[in-house]
Amino acid sequence: MYKNLYLKRGKEESLKRFHPWIFSGAVQRIEGGEPEEGEVVRVLTADGEFIALGHWQIGSIAVRVLDFEESDINLDWWERRLRVAYEMRRSIGVAGRGDGQDTYRLVHGEGDGLPGLVVDVYGRTAVMQAHSVGMHVARHDVASALVKVSEGTIENVYYKSETTLPFKAELGPENGFIIGGSRDDVAVENGLKFHIDWLKGQKTGFFVDQRDNRSLLERYARGRAVLNMFCYTGGFSVYAMRGGATLVHSVDSSSKAIDLTRANVELNFPGDARHEAFAEDAFKFLNAMERRYDLIILDPPAFAKHKDALRQALKGYTRLNAKAFSKIKPGGILFTFSCSQVVSKDNFRMAVFTAAAQSGRRVRILHQLHQPADHPINIYHPEGEYLKGLVLYVE
Ligand code: SAH
Repeated sequence: MYKNLYLKRGKEESLKRFHPWIFSGAVQRIEGGEPEEGEVVRVLTADGEFIALGHWQIGSIAVRVLDFEESDINLDWWERRLRVAYEMRRSIGVAGRGDGQDTYRLVHGEGDGLPGLVVDVYGRTAVMQAHSVGMHVARHDVASALVKVSEGTIENVYYKSETTLPFKAELGPENGFIIGGSRDDVAVENGLKFHIDWLKGQKTGFFVDQRDNRSLLERYARGRAVLNMFCYTGGFSVYAMRGGATLVHSVDSSSKAIDLTRANVELNFPGDARHEAFAEDAFKFLNAMERRYDLIILDPPAFAKHKDALRQALKGYTRLNAKAFSKIKPGGILFTFSCSQVVSKDNFRMAVFTAAAQSGRRVRILHQLHQPADHPINIYHPEGEYLKGLVLYVE
């Protein structure tokens, strides 16, 4: 059975509050020697009391907890856990609508009690990403459980972990279909179509997490000239066009992203002259920009990937937002986001506040945005809160 891992005295406190990580410094000893990376271990207090089961990994997080009760982590277990995730999505109306066109996140790591696992669903295809060796080892069980619990709505499972697995694991390239196979790469979100690049795209190929915020943007687009900065697949651009924008400019430094954006606009609004896309650095574009926009979206990549980078990241957000404030028309609207996990809501708001003050514009908050319901935050793991945004009215 599973190897026993004993914690140092007192190190079980956070686990008693269901926090799902055990740091390597908390480990006293492991019976029978060090486990293989990805192996399931039984975690015990210094006094030998059972406290959790989890995946062992080399690194600062030594164990990612799967269960706070004794169990066998077998196919049945995966089915039970994934069924809970699926039922939640169904109950909130993002899954199982029956038209084969749902686009949603089915598993959001710790938010679903499955640390290290992300699954996004695009119609009949689930794209699965392992961020831990344990989830990599379990990938075949996960894939078959996904198909089983989805009531026939998921037929294909694509595994995309080449860039997310820890470097040390040396597990080889790991992208491909585990179950099924499909050439249909078009996902539908709120009736709009998007090509999903499973093979090479960032994350699982699309940023599902901006769905609700894109809908909100659509409501504000009518009659406005829109600038979508950091557009990636052009999600916000396509919504702005449907919302009645007079003009939409999309900017991304990656020419591949610009190609994707153009393709997605063409897919929904063939030949529509309102849209133009620019493969350019955001700051360069903003500096050189002569025309003013009525609505600007700033959705940059995470400026801080870990805590040490926080101060620098906040400066980056201030600089970017100050630039946008200085260029937006009076009466304009700014959608501004941060997806850095280490930047808190208050940090971000302060960075944007500083930018507003620097620009001297009168700025009011219309909406405070966050990640959608299919990216739930485990209340015992507040680190899971990552996406935050503000919608601002700029006089
Ligand atoms: N808004 C998108 C997601 C943005 S992801 C959506 O809704 O799907 C961040 C994007 O920023 C990536 O596509 C990346 O290529 C782009 N990017 C990174 N650095 C940049 C820079 N300096 N200037 C412009 N774009 C940049």
